[in-house]
Amino acid sequence: MAATSMDQLVSLCKRRGFIFQNADIYGGLQGVYDYGPLGIELKNNLKAAWWRSMVYERDDVEGLDAAILTHRKVLQYSGHEATFTDPLCDCKKCKARMRADHIKDGKCPNCGSTDLTEPRPFNLMFKTTVGPIEDGTNYAYLRPETAQAIFTQFKNVVDSTSRKVPFGIAQIGKSFRNEITPRNFVFRVREFEQMELEFFVKPGTDEEWHEKWKEARVKWWEEQGLKPENIHIHKIAKEDLAHYSKATYDIEFQFPHGVEELEGIANRTDYDLGNHTRYQNELGLTAHVHENKDSEAKLAVFDDQEKKWFVPFVIEPSAGVDRGVLAVLTEAYTEETLPNGETRIVLKLKKHLAPVKVAVIPLKRNNPDIMQKAHEIKNMLLKTGIGRVMLEDSGNIGKAYRRHDEIGTPICVTVDFETIEKQPATVTIRDRDTMAQERIAVDELADYLKKQFMA
Ligand code: ATP
Repeated sequence: MAATSMDQLVSLCKRRGFIFQNADIYGGLQGVYDYGPLGIELKNNLKAAWWRSMVYERDDVEGLDAAILTHRKVLQYSGHEATFTDPLCDCKKCKARMRADHIKDGKCPNCGSTDLTEPRPFNLMFKTTVGPIEDGTNYAYLRPETAQAIFTQFKNVVDSTSRKVPFGIAQIGKSFRNEITPRNFVFRVREFEQMELEFFVKPGTDEEWHEKWKEARVKWWEEQGLKPENIHIHKIAKEDLAHYSKATYDIEFQFPHGVEELEGIANRTDYDLGNHTRYQNELGLTAHVHENKDSEAKLAVFDDQEKKWFVPFVIEPSAGVDRGVLAVLTEAYTEETLPNGETRIVLKLKKHLAPVKVAVIPLKRNNPDIMQKAHEIKNMLLKTGIGRVMLEDSGNIGKAYRRHDEIGTPICVTVDFETIEKQPATVTIRDRDTMAQERIAVDELADYLKKQFMA
C-alpha cells in the first residue's frame, strides 16, 4: 500500500481548502466534489502543464473547447447509448447496488450476503431536457467523455488549420458519468474533468504511435512528481476492451486505496470518425463501421500519394484531472519528525504545481512600515510571472511556515526589521523541503525566484 493514507489526504484537503464535499451543508451530493481556494490553483497548474506539453511544446496538436451538452445522435452513433453501460447487481438482503466487476467471491461487499440479482446493464450517461417542454424526446446528454466533440469537429479543425495527419486535437473539460458506486474520494466521481488528446494517424502506423504515446505519457506523469516505482502499465485484455478500442494501455498509479487507472491510452482505430460519417460505401471509404443515415459528414482526409480519401485511425491518451490531483497529492504528502519530536506535514509538490509559489510574510503585521514593504515585495514578485504570490499576514511566523509547508509553498520570504532599517534591504528566504534559510538582497529577489521557478 502507499505510504499516504486516504484519511490523511481527505483531512488535509478539507483543513487547508483543497477539496470539499459538494453540498456539504445538506449532507452532500454523492460522488460530487468542489475544489476550494488551493484546489483550484493545483488543478489549474496540472491542466496548464498538460496543455503546455500537449499543445505548446508540440508542432502537431491544436486545441478545442467544445460544449458539454451533447446531441443525442452523437452518442447514439458513437456507440455510447447502446454500450456505455456497467453491469449492475442488487443485494436482495441489504438492497445495496454494486458493479458486477466489484463483487468478490459472489458476496455483497456491503453485508456479505450471496443473495444477489443477476447483473443487468445500467447506462452511465446523464440525460437532460433541452428547451421548455419535457415530452421525453427533446433531450441531450451531458458528455461522458470529451472525445466525441473532437470527432464531430474534426473536419472544421482540419479545414481551418490545414493540418495533415499525423496530428492531434487536445481538449480539457468536464465529463459526467452516473457511476453506480462513486468512492475513494475524487478517484471515482460522477462529475470530473478529463484531459484528452485524439491523435489522428494513417492506418498501419497506429500501433507504432500507440507505443510512442504510452512512453510520452509515462514520462509526463513522472515530470509531475510521480515516482517510477508507483507507476504501472497494464495492457487491457481483449475481452475487457471498451467498445471502440483495438488495444488499450492503462497507466496505473499506486493510489492510497490501491493500484488503479490514472490514464487510459486507447487505439480507437477509425471507429469514431467512421461512425460519424455518412454512407461509407457511397463515399468510397473503408472504415470498419456501420453506415450512418443521419450524418452529413465525410470525416476523412485525402492521401496525396495514393490519391484517395481515407478515415484516419486515432490514438487517444485520456487522463483524469481529478485522479491526477489525487495522485500528485498522494506522492507529495510527507510527514517528518523534527529534532524536537514534533511532526511536520509537508507537501513536496513539484514547484510548477504548487498552489502558492511564494508566501511573503511580514514579521509584525501591526508595523505599518513592514506591512508596506511586504506589499511592495509581493507586487514586485507578482510581476515576474512565476504564478501566485501571497501576502501571508494571518498569524505568527511559526504558524505561517507550518501552513505553507502543509500547502506545499516552495519558498517563504520574510520581511522583518532589518528589511526596513538596513541598506541594502534584505529579506529571509526559507526553502520548504530543507527548511534552510538565507538572507538575500531585495534587489536580487525577483531574478533569484525567476531562476527557481522558470528553469
Ligand atoms: P474506470 O475503469 O476506472 O471506470 P474508465 O476505463 O472507464 O475508468 P476511461 O473511459 O478510460 O475510464 O476515461 C479516461 C480517464 O478519465 C480515466 O483514466 C480516469 O482518469 C478518468 N475517469 C473516468 N471515469 C472517472 C470517474 N468516474 N471519476 C474520475 N475520473 C474518471
